[in-house]
This record gives sequence, structure tokens and C-alpha cells, in this order.
Amino acid sequence: MKKVIVMGGGGFIGNHLVSRLHKDGSYVVAVDLKYPECGNTKANEFIIGDLRNIEFVKKIITEDTDEIYQLAADMGGAGYIFTGDNDANVMHNSVLINLNVLNESVVKNVKKIFYSSSACVYPAYNQEDTNNPKCDELSAYPAAPDSEYGWEKLFSERLYFSYNRNYNIDIRVGRFHNIFGPLGTWTGGKEKAPAAICRKVSEAIDGETIEIWGDGKQTRSFLYIDDCIDAVIRFMNSNFKGPLNIGSEEMISINDFTKMIIEISGKNLKIKNIEGPVGVKGRNSDNKMIREKLNWEPKLSLKQGITETYFWIKEQVSKKTAS
Ligand code: NAD
Repeated sequence: MKKVIVMGGGGFIGNHLVSRLHKDGSYVVAVDLKYPECGNTKANEFIIGDLRNIEFVKKIITEDTDEIYQLAADMGGAGYIFTGDNDANVMHNSVLINLNVLNESVVKNVKKIFYSSSACVYPAYNQEDTNNPKCDELSAYPAAPDSEYGWEKLFSERLYFSYNRNYNIDIRVGRFHNIFGPLGTWTGGKEKAPAAICRKVSEAIDGETIEIWGDGKQTRSFLYIDDCIDAVIRFMNSNFKGPLNIGSEEMISINDFTKMIIEISGKNLKIKNIEGPVGVKGRNSDNKMIREKLNWEPKLSLKQGITETYFWIKEQVSKKTAS
């Protein structure tokens, strides 16, 4: 039986990954500062601890570890990443985790590590046109990410590739593009746009107006969680090291996305665009490489995925209101 460690296993993507790896027959150790906020864990062992602490990392990475999925990071949605208020923590915390994990993985001879990077590594200058963003894997340089979160991811990608070159540790570097779905953070300030919009729509009363950050013309693509996990597993089983986009090419403006969610809710709501942190004007995944290397395509359309998510968030809002 393969022994895998999912770091950030109490987070949104990590929790789903733990379930899938467990289902596929691995012995799964999840590590996080906290248990999953939504839903139970399927991990064989769940270890609570801080990956910034090297003594803790030395204890949890054991010599019989086959694979590590490193998803732990200090992160959140636009309200957390683009205000500038959390920059020092975001960079300090995430870099420390990656330094510790790589160092100890070499000592313990871990066979393979997946690292979750982000679409936020792509340069702002290629994402100014809402209809025509450029996000193919090779376009990350010359580097100019629009947030410190993106700079940290780019630095850590380089760290993983350096360890691969110098210590021969096998790595996979994936760049996630807006992953969403049930069991994700939906309230509290760290939630991302899909969850935040679903929450606003489900809390609104028929006829009300909901507020959306920015002019609403900014474009993005969103990938449903099950498709993301499927891509990660395929990637790990391939020979390609990356970096590799893991996203959807179904680009939509934020206002049209909001209208889609309003339609799903069956409510009659209006949108008011207000000033707020938004990030780049346009972003879309470029899936040429993942198609070529993994023969992978998302299975769910945005509408199918956001329908599942909307009804899950609606249920959470109702439970909270009732309690
Ligand atoms: P998340 O915030 O839900 O999960 C991250 C987890 O890491 C959290 O549970 C957190 O408690 C844990 N963590 C943070 N610091 C830690 C520490 N010092 N020690 C132990 N655990 C710690 O985020 P997510 O959406 O599941 O994202 C997972 C990874 O994918 C992150 O690295 C993120 O940067 C990356 N990513 C996510 C998206 C997305 O759309 N969700 C997009 C691009 C990249």
C-alpha cells in the first residue's frame, strides 16, 4: 500500500484529495493546522501541526513516505490576497513551509512531491485585455505577478525545480486556476469569488440588489473540484514535471457569472458593481499543454459545477440561519 501525505489536508482541495487518494487505496496521512471546516476527513491519520516548524516536519515526513501532495499555504480570495494587508504573512508562511518540506523530503528520500502553484504567477501585463489573456505555461517569464502571493508561488516553483535538479527528487508542479465546489470556504473573508457570489445570492431576498466587486467586466475561468483532483492524479502518474495549468478554458465575465448563479437560484436579483479588490482584468487557463501531456479535459461545464456548489452553499446558509 502506498503511503501518501497530504499537506493542507484540512483545506478545501486537500480534503477532496484525501478522499480520492483513500478511495484509490493509498494509506493517507493528512497534515494541517486544522481539521476540515466542512465535511469529515477520510484520512487514515490526521495530524494537527504547523508546517512552518521544522521539528514538526521532521516528525511527520517518515522514511516510508512514497508521495507528498504539498497544498498547505497561507491564502484566500481577492479580499485576502489583493488588499496588501496580508502580504508579509502570505510570503513568510508559505515559503517556510516549502523550504521545510523540501529539505526534509531529501533527508527521508521521499519518492515524489506534487506542489500546488497558482495561475497568480502569470504576469499582469498579459492579463490586461478581458477578452484575450495569455496564460500558457511558458508565458510566466519575464515575471510580473500582480500579487505577493503570486511571487511566492513563482519562487517556490523555482525551489521545487532546484531540488529536482540538485537532489534528484521527483516533482510535479501544477498551476491551479480558480478551483471551486462543495466543501470550500464560503464565508469569513478567505472565500473566493464563486463561493462569495453563491453566498450573496442565497442570502438575498427576491428583488434585492447584490454587490459585486469591480466593474464586473473582469473575466476568469473556474474549474470544478472533481475535475481538478482527477487532473492532479493523472499528473502524478505521468512523466511530466510541469509547470502545468490545471484549469478550465470556459472564460466568463464576473457579471455574467453572477447572472448565471442568480438564474440557478430562481430569484430575481439586481447587480450593483462596487469598488473592491479584483486582481487582473482577464485570466483564462490555457489547456494546450495538459491536453497534450495528459489527454485531460474538464468533464463538468461551469453551469453544472456551479449548480452543485450553489445548492451546497444555500444549505450551509440555511443551517447557519437556523442555528
Ligand atoms: P485552503 O486555504 O482551503 O487550504 C490550505 C490549507 O493549508 C488550509 O487548511 C490551512 O490551514 C493549511 N495551512 C496553512 N498554513 C499551514 C501551516 N503552517 N501548517 C499546516 N497547514 C497549514 O486552500 P485551497 O483552496 O485548498 O488551496 C490549496 C492549495 O492550492 C494552496 O497552496 C493554494 O495556494 C493553491 N491554489 C488554490 C487555488 C484555488 O482556486 N483554490 C488556486 C490556485 C492555487
